[in-house]
Amino acid sequence: MRELAAGLGAAALIIFLFYESSLIPLVILAGLFLVLLRFTGLKTPRFSSVGQSTRVKTISFNQIGGQEVAKKELLEALDFVTKPREISHLGIRPLKGVMLVGPPGTGKTLLARAAAGYTGSSFTSVAGSEFIEMYAGVGAQRVRQLFQGCRKKAQGERRKNAILFIDEIDILGGKRGRHSSHLEYDQTLNQLLVEMDGLGGGESGLHILVIGATNRPEALDEALLRPGRFDRVVQVDLPDLEGRKQILKLHLHNKPLGEGISLEKIARETFGFSGAHLESLANEAAILALREKQRQIAEKHLLEAVDKVILGEKLERKPDPEELWRVAVHESGHALVSETLQPGSVSQITITPRGKALGYVRHKPERDFYLYTVEQLEEKIAVLLGGAVSEQLVLGNRSTGSLGDFDQAVEIARKIIAAGLSNLGVVSIKDLPKALLHRTIQQLVSSGERWVSGLLGERTALIEEVARLVLEKEKLTGETLRRQIAAHRQAG
Ligand code: ATP
Repeated sequence: MRELAAGLGAAALIIFLFYESSLIPLVILAGLFLVLLRFTGLKTPRFSSVGQSTRVKTISFNQIGGQEVAKKELLEALDFVTKPREISHLGIRPLKGVMLVGPPGTGKTLLARAAAGYTGSSFTSVAGSEFIEMYAGVGAQRVRQLFQGCRKKAQGERRKNAILFIDEIDILGGKRGRHSSHLEYDQTLNQLLVEMDGLGGGESGLHILVIGATNRPEALDEALLRPGRFDRVVQVDLPDLEGRKQILKLHLHNKPLGEGISLEKIARETFGFSGAHLESLANEAAILALREKQRQIAEKHLLEAVDKVILGEKLERKPDPEELWRVAVHESGHALVSETLQPGSVSQITITPRGKALGYVRHKPERDFYLYTVEQLEEKIAVLLGGAVSEQLVLGNRSTGSLGDFDQAVEIARKIIAAGLSNLGVVSIKDLPKALLHRTIQQLVSSGERWVSGLLGERTALIEEVARLVLEKEKLTGETLRRQIAAHRQAG
């Protein structure tokens, strides 16, 4: 943009001198400039907009479910803001930045808003993507204006403290020299570092705390995490069982709930859900109740909403009877392997097509898992292969329905190798010859296949019984499945 303006400016000057003050060529040039802007898609930089117009309401920490460790760590860091006298008495240097790190939708933005509420700070919020343009210097200018705007806003609100929240900070603060238009990225990051170094709370008695948030901490430039900049890194993880229960309670508190709903049960069904997923679940359950013209949300609405959040909306398209039987056989196979290896682990089998899935088995882990042994990972592979093996046993062939299962099984096998749990011992997966990696993955998956064929080989009749039930009811609970297995065992 600058180069274009400079070029046209120089041309204008020459023409102006040449044509002795006639305005006509200048008008033509101005027109040419506007046409170029229009057709090249170039934008005139709008420096003033970054972060200044965002009016975000602050909240209290009580409005955030779970995240006890993150809250505790953040609250400790906020003492720097709320207790400036004690901090300076002990000669502690002021804290300039806190980095919130964790998967999407876990409440990082909420924590920043709560931090502003807790400290009575003025709150400015921006996203890293707002800074990056193709033109060198624009991002750096925006960073300067952002800090100025943040100061101005705090002064206007007569606050002593300001919190500047930068979401997706990895876009703005990614490792230098890595990007194709790296000059612009580097200048923007350098400016952020300069601004942070200049924060001292000295000048107007205003203390600015920068809170960054990212899902990709590995992409951040080390200079950003250097002591004196983002001193504190707070991990904001997916909520555990208790956290999920609390988040559900928070998002259901303004909704009419039927009698006897167990939030513990719903929380158990939602392992791996983020706070944002749980918020969506509460909302979807209410929509389902509305569709059925109910005045209260029932447990079945919440359970159906779990499927909806995982897999998407039910599809109108119905597979033909032959396809449906195959799906029922496939899903019954997954469920039977799961129940054999971990009794009580199946929560539901369904053959209602949703999103991209024609059928689905929802598992219910007895507890939240954070670490897996090789045996547990092999069991996971076995459950994934149960669908294809069942199709082979009952229908005599397989289908493309197992594609996703195989992808996941291969990923788990790769994890086994990377964690040093395969017969290769501890290896660097990226230095492993491709052929050897491929062979080891294949061995792990095919030994899983042999295991599952052994487990299901003698139980073809049971697979068919369960599949017939699933076909009839479209959805089978884990309890019904377990009763069917027990009845089959007694009859045998
Ligand atoms: P991203 O990394 O994608 O920016 P984030 O971690 O900043 O996500 P938030 O924007 O804070 O996530 O959360 C999105 C929404 O999810 C919130 O508005 C809220 O409805 C819900 N939510 C997330 N975490 C929690 C939580 N711990 N308690 C209550 N609600 C939550």
